[in-house]
Formats: sequence, C-alpha cells, structure tokens
Amino acid sequence: MTTTRRNAVRQALAGNQGFRSAQDIYADLRADGSKIGLTTVYRALQALSETGEVDVLRTDDGEAVYRACRTEEHHHHLVCRACGRTVEVAGPAVEKWADAIGAEHGFSEITHTVEVFGTCAGCVAGRS
Ligand SMILES: [Zn+2]
Ligand SMILES: [Zn+2]
Ligand SMILES: [Zn+2]
Repeated sequence: MTTTRRNAVRQALAGNQGFRSAQDIYADLRADGSKIGLTTVYRALQALSETGEVDVLRTDDGEAVYRACRTEEHHHHLVCRACGRTVEVAGPAVEKWADAIGAEHGFSEITHTVEVFGTCAGCVAGRS
C-alpha cells in the first residue's frame, strides 16, 4: 500500500459528510482520472479504519460503508441504527478498563474498538 494511494482515498472521503461504500469512493476516484483499483480502495479503507481515521458501518444488507472521522485521535462512536447518524464520543472509563484488564492478564500493546448503537432522538421523534 503506497501512502499516495491511501491519501487519495482519504481525500475522497474528506470532502463528504455522509457514509459511502467502497464502490462509490472507487467511482469518484476513477472519475477524477485515478488509475486506482477497487481492491486497493478496499485495502486503503481497511487500513484507514484500523488507524481510526474513518468510521465504518455495516448496512442492513451487510455492506460496509465509510466516512471520514472528524478527529484522528482515538475515540468511540455512538451510532443510530435507524439513520446511521454517528456521534464521536470519548470514553475515558473504557480506556482505563481496557488497559487495566489487559495488564491484569499480562497483555501489552492493548487496542480496542467500541461502538455504541441506539436510536437517535430525531428518529424517535419521527416515529410518533
Ligand atoms: Zn470517528
Ligand atoms: Zn437516527
Ligand atoms: Zn477507547
């Protein structure tokens, strides 16, 4: 994976607020004249989600969709199951717990991913 390609994918995401599939991002990049392959787009998205630079969601039919995170710092997501609205949240208690539980079992280089799902206020209001 070259940094250039990863940057191209990162930029394609940065200009957009909503969640988009790898196919959408690939189509955008090709439209801009990029020679990037779909597999490379998938790999770049995976690498970016591992470093926490993009948010990943699974749609109901199992497709992964991506969005640029607002911050590159470690954080968690509160995700609306109904509309996909995502709020970036800090979880100091989770950080402490993950490090403590790791240390307790002799693990180092601890990482974790925590996503909290629910129904946002807008969706609840729309129901009544
Ligand atoms: Zn995020
Ligand atoms: Zn919602
Ligand atoms: Zn955390």
